Amino acid sequence: MTIRVLSEQLSSQIAAGEVVERPSSVVKELVENALDAGATTINVEVRGGGRELIQVADNGEGITADDIETAFLRHATSKLKTVDDLELIRTLGFRGEALSSIAAVSRLTIVSRSERAQAGTRLVLEGGQKSDRETVGAPQGTVIAVENLFYNVPARLKFLKSVTTEKRLIDEFVTRYAMAYPHVRFRLTHDNRIGFQTTGNGNVQDVLLAVYGPDATRQLLEIGAAEQGDRVEQPVQDSRVAIEVTGYIGPPNLNWANRSRITLFVNGRWIKDKSLTYAVIQAYHTLLPAGRYPLGIIFISLPPEQVDVNVHPAKTEVRFRRSNEVFGAVQRTVRGTLIAQSPVRSLGAWTVTGESGTIPADWMGSLSQQAFDRHENNAQGELQLDWSRRFAPADQVVGEEEKSASPEAPLMENERLPIMRVVGQVGAAYIITEGPDGLYLIDQHAAHERILYEQFMAQWEQKDVVSQGLMAGSAVHFPPSQATLLEEKLDTLDGLGFKVEPFGPNAFMVRAIPAIVSNTDPARALQVVVEDLERGDAPLQESIEDRIVLRVCKSAAIKAGKTLSQSEMEALVQQLEACRNPHTCPHGRPTLIHLSVAQLARQFGRT
Ligand code: ADP
Ligand code: MG
Repeated sequence: MTIRVLSEQLSSQIAAGEVVERPSSVVKELVENALDAGATTINVEVRGGGRELIQVADNGEGITADDIETAFLRHATSKLKTVDDLELIRTLGFRGEALSSIAAVSRLTIVSRSERAQAGTRLVLEGGQKSDRETVGAPQGTVIAVENLFYNVPARLKFLKSVTTEKRLIDEFVTRYAMAYPHVRFRLTHDNRIGFQTTGNGNVQDVLLAVYGPDATRQLLEIGAAEQGDRVEQPVQDSRVAIEVTGYIGPPNLNWANRSRITLFVNGRWIKDKSLTYAVIQAYHTLLPAGRYPLGIIFISLPPEQVDVNVHPAKTEVRFRRSNEVFGAVQRTVRGTLIAQSPVRSLGAWTVTGESGTIPADWMGSLSQQAFDRHENNAQGELQLDWSRRFAPADQVVGEEEKSASPEAPLMENERLPIMRVVGQVGAAYIITEGPDGLYLIDQHAAHERILYEQFMAQWEQKDVVSQGLMAGSAVHFPPSQATLLEEKLDTLDGLGFKVEPFGPNAFMVRAIPAIVSNTDPARALQVVVEDLERGDAPLQESIEDRIVLRVCKSAAIKAGKTLSQSEMEALVQQLEACRNPHTCPHGRPTLIHLSVAQLARQFGRT
């Protein structure tokens, strides 16, 4: 076989494949160019999911008649001159590949007029070859129309998904950039129908409204903002590298079966990053049900020299110089907001909307109520401390020293519960209590699960899980597949307080179990753990230990349907008060509903 240099046309088609994978990549590149050109209005028109037409019109700086043909040469860019510039990229583009790549695989028409030019230029390229050029009257800015995408690359054409899928991917790109650039007015039409538009008034929340609709938007929490209601939270700043994390996240009850609602931007560029996505997910740990993922729009800003955007032609992957610090900043910012704002469910709103299990309509309202409560509580701080010391068992009182000793302590400035008085039990499932501001309904099972979980995790983090020996061991038989699994996990279980020994073929002897769950049937406790391990469908962020602890706490927690004595209820409530994160069970369901004095008054028509 003879070695040949590929023709210019073939090599540019191959190169184009890296940049232009599908219609949405064309939209992305053209929108990025418009943003780099300083446009304040960007109109995207799509037909046939992008196969027939993608047209992006902007009012940016435009291209001069002298430059317009150069712009379509490979590696032609106005954004980069020297290798040093590569370190300090502030534009979305810099590789000079998009226009040449798109032109190589389509029929492309550009009309552009730069600011000072009297007239515009219209240029037509077919498969990258100039086929027409003329001077035309045109407004300042650039319009690029891409028709017959991939007409000359049949292999690509075959791999395109359905029109619906391509439309969705285009929608995603346009909405992402609209969120990151709220000062720019975007409009997207599919087959002449407006799919999405923003006003460009600079208000991110207005864009979020257009993207997520009113219900979800109302619930979003701002992260890393300088002002949050009456709370002042500084954007997370690293002492050596200024990493700023801002954006919006959903409350835990807003969750999905996949990660696609987590959107990341670095210095205004949308990126894909598994590790940072995971940082967001991890911040929701124990607040979300297993296998569910949150919503997050995360903007990360850092000095350009701290991030390498030149990893792949599509520029959607980046490398950070200090990836651990960026990870930490994202995780801390999200977690901090989440913990600070984790609300008590408000009963009033539930009766108003009539929907149980959805977020109360006046969520934000109840937040400020809580902030008010906290101030009140602080004013009575001494009293509160006395109370907790008097009633909580010594090991339940978390003193300031202990709090700061724990590595997670700074994140855990949670809304602690106020001291509560037990009033009674309803339906053998809920405990009614009175607090400084009205009454609380506590789900006894969910609350107990939370308590056991936190106690267990505290011991486990200290590598000090207390084990309770069994007088007579308890023998358990397993089917062979489960027995093998258990055999592999004996060491892990040991660290968690389960002393289990092989006891003949496919049988095990339980000698001890974690003291925290010592009221459970040892054989049953081991069985649920093994069943759970076997299913193996837990999200990645949960370690095996975590899963075991979650499972064990669930099975050991008091069930709904159990009548509790006054002292049992008091003990439970005191322990819940001592929890760092008392508002949800470890699976993310609420542990309590609050009905404030004001809400009571409103419901009874007293105000
Ligand atoms: P890059 O964006 O990496 O520089 P492109 O191939 O996307 O490369 O674009 C090549 C050049 O064409 C850009 O550097 C820019 O000068 C010019 N250009 C492209 N699109 C526009 C636009 N919408 N407005 C003004 N100039 C543009
Ligand atoms: Mg570009």
